[in-house]
Formats: sequence, C-alpha cells, structure tokens
Amino acid sequence: MSFQSLNLIEPILRSLKQEGYHTPTPIQQQSIPIILQGTDLLGCAQTGTGKTAAFTIPILQLLLESKTFGKKRKIRSLVVTPTRELAIQINDSIQAYGRFTGLVSTVVFGGVNQNPQADAIRRGVDILVATPGRLLDLIDQGIISLHDIEYFVLDEADRMLDMGFIHDVKRIIALLPKKRQSLFFSATMPPEIIKLSNTILNNPVKVEITPSATTVEIIRLFVYFVDKGNKPALLLEVLEDKNIKSVLVFTRTKHGADKVVKVLEKNKIKAEAIHGNKSQNARQRALSNFKEQTTRVLVATDIAARGIDIEEMEWVINYELPEVAETYVHRIGRTGRAGAKGTAYSFCDAEEKPLLRDIEKLIGKKIPVNDNHSFPLIDHNPVKKPKQQHTRSPRQGRAAEQSSGRTNVRSEKTSQYAAGRR
Ligand code: AMP
Repeated sequence: MSFQSLNLIEPILRSLKQEGYHTPTPIQQQSIPIILQGTDLLGCAQTGTGKTAAFTIPILQLLLESKTFGKKRKIRSLVVTPTRELAIQINDSIQAYGRFTGLVSTVVFGGVNQNPQADAIRRGVDILVATPGRLLDLIDQGIISLHDIEYFVLDEADRMLDMGFIHDVKRIIALLPKKRQSLFFSATMPPEIIKLSNTILNNPVKVEITPSATTVEIIRLFVYFVDKGNKPALLLEVLEDKNIKSVLVFTRTKHGADKVVKVLEKNKIKAEAIHGNKSQNARQRALSNFKEQTTRVLVATDIAARGIDIEEMEWVINYELPEVAETYVHRIGRTGRAGAKGTAYSFCDAEEKPLLRDIEKLIGKKIPVNDNHSFPLIDHNPVKKPKQQHTRSPRQGRAAEQSSGRTNVRSEKTSQYAAGRR
C-alpha cells in the first residue's frame, strides 16, 4: 500500500517523500482513512508504531481542506500529551509533515518561561500541542481559548493517568466544544482508560496495533545470566564492543540509573541519566547529547524513556528486567523502528528469572542465552532482601521510577571493582 492510495493531498505527499517514508505503517493504513472520514478513533498503539503520523497527517489534511483564508488563525486542533519530550516531538512531526501546507503549529509545556509560548499563540496558530498543566495555566490566564477546536487528540492516555494528570485532562475535556472530532491513543486499555475514552469519544472506531510480534521478530534478543553484583562489570565488558556506538540502558529505578551512570563515568564512558528526578532542561539536554552522540550511553527509567524517539537506534540493554512483562516490549520497541536493525540485551540475575519467564510467555518465544561473557551466574539462590514499602505522592504512578532503596553490599563492592577495572 502507498500513501497515494490513502487519498492524501499533494502537499502532504510531497513532505512524506522528503521524510523518506514510502509505505504507511499498519496504524497509518488503518487510521488515516477513518480520521479523514470524520470518525472518532480509539487507537491502541504505542510510540514506535508510526502513531504520530497516523493522527497528524489526516488532521493536517482536514484543516487544510476546510481552511478559511484571510481570517486570523484560530486554534482548530489540539493535541494533549503527557510529557515535554513527546510534545516537542509531535510538534516537530506536524511541522515536518505540514511544511508545504501553510498551516502553523506550536507547542506549550511547563518548566520554562511561558512568554515565548504565549507570544507564539498570540501570533496565531492552527494546531496546538500541549502538556496538560501549562495548557490549563495559559487557559486560566486567557491566553489560550479552546472554543474553536475541531480536532482533539489525547495522546498516551494511560501515561496521563500514571502521571496523575487525570483531573487536568478532565478539566480540559470540559472546555472543548461539543461538536468536534476526537482521537484517543493509549498503549494499554485498562478499564479506567476505557471509561475515560467513553467520556471523550462519540461512536469511535477502534484500531489496535500490537507491536510485540513485529518488534520481537525484527530485533535480535539475547539474555545474559549474571549475578546482580556483577551487572556493572558485565555492562563494562559489553560496552567494550565498539560497534555499540550509542545505547539506551534501562534500569527499574532512578537511583539505579544514577548508579550505572557513575560506574560508566568512572570508566571514562560518556553516560547520562534521564528520569523523573531530573529537571526538564536536564532531560532535554541529555536527550540532545545522546542524539548527537556526544553521550554514548543514555540510562533511563521506564516512564522517562517512553517519551524518547530516536531514529535508527540499534541497541537497548535491559540492565534490570522490568516487573511487568509488557514493559519489556515497550523497552525493546525503542530499537528496530520502522524496519531499522535492533539488538536488545537483557541482564538477568537469579531473582529476575521469574520475570524473564513472564516476558518469554508474553512474546511467545525463548530468548537466546549469550553465555560468552566473563561473569556467569553463580549464586542461583541469593538471600532475599525484604522490599521497602513506598508511599505514593499525589502525582503518583511513578512507581516504576521510585527508588527501590535496595543497596546491597555485594553490588556496592562490585561497582567499586568494576569502577577500577580499567
Ligand atoms: P511514532 O510511533 O510516531 O513515534 O513513530 C516512530 C518512528 O517511525 C518515527 O521516528 C517516525 O519518523 C518513523 N515513521 C513514522 N511513519 C513512518 C513511515 N510510514 N515510514 C517510515 N518511518 C516512519
């Protein structure tokens, strides 16, 4: 199937050609005709599937087809997404796909001075991409009005819920005109999300894309069995491979991410962490350094990483296995995108073996074991440490990022050992 056969107009086809897109991804093939028809859409898909283009392309076309020239621009389309990183990426995509349409978009998010954002809005935009908090701030100040919204997109709804934005989202929805077309995207569809979608959508068509099968087929997967305390040393050994020019390393906790960065830095490997404790600016900087390859290793927690879109990323290392098997698919989905090559290594200690079994059950295959390394698993029955209880903050849902508080003596020792290896 080609983009032409989706009845897209020439200015959009031209920009897609410039982007080097030849074939629409499955979510694009399914969603674009539905959206162009004016129908509401419930999309079950995650980042990495081509979801952004699936909603921005038809919205650009619809806006262009009903454009009234000569009048001041009004915000006719609103895209709400949970993080600054995603908001910037979506706006970049809109500007790329819409570069020949004459339509104007801008992005607003918190954590930075609002004046340049307010000025851009005052100059007039057709499409606004926003994170919930800053959007409401600007609405409260009378800078943004949602009266003219014709196309509304709620992106990454499950993460909105995770990050405690549900009340903000409900306030935004209440301000939207009743007559509008709405598109709702979420990687997972738990009952709360379905309930929320029912308050937004009107007779939607559901489109579901399961990346697992394709992701798992394209990406080379390996598991390394290793004692927990030897993970730093194993990571250093793996990174001796000069083919690994840039790699995304996942840890379960913020604390764990910072520890990995320290070990790598001590060994003169450029690394930065990206997680919820870092300021927006620090996260953005870490991301640009990684994209420009001035940082070789980006260490991320799951919540922080879901906003990252790096084209042609080849390597992912699961330094710790995720508690929830689906998260593994999200993690490895950062690589092998849009047909690119991908390799995902997973470090698995004795305690993580049940997690590995869950993952293999989910993806429906055994992950090949790489035992060609210097730190084979020896301690198959380590003494279990009691888990620390955490209290959740109101902006909850960041459980995956909460420090586990588990600092075990063995791993401290080995990090020192690892740190002094070179
Ligand atoms: P997304 O799921 O929107 O985050 O997109 C994932 C990546 O795929 C982005 O880097 C897009 O630039 C890229 N992409 C989206 N659609 C296509 C396509 N039809 N052909 C090639 N690459 C694409």
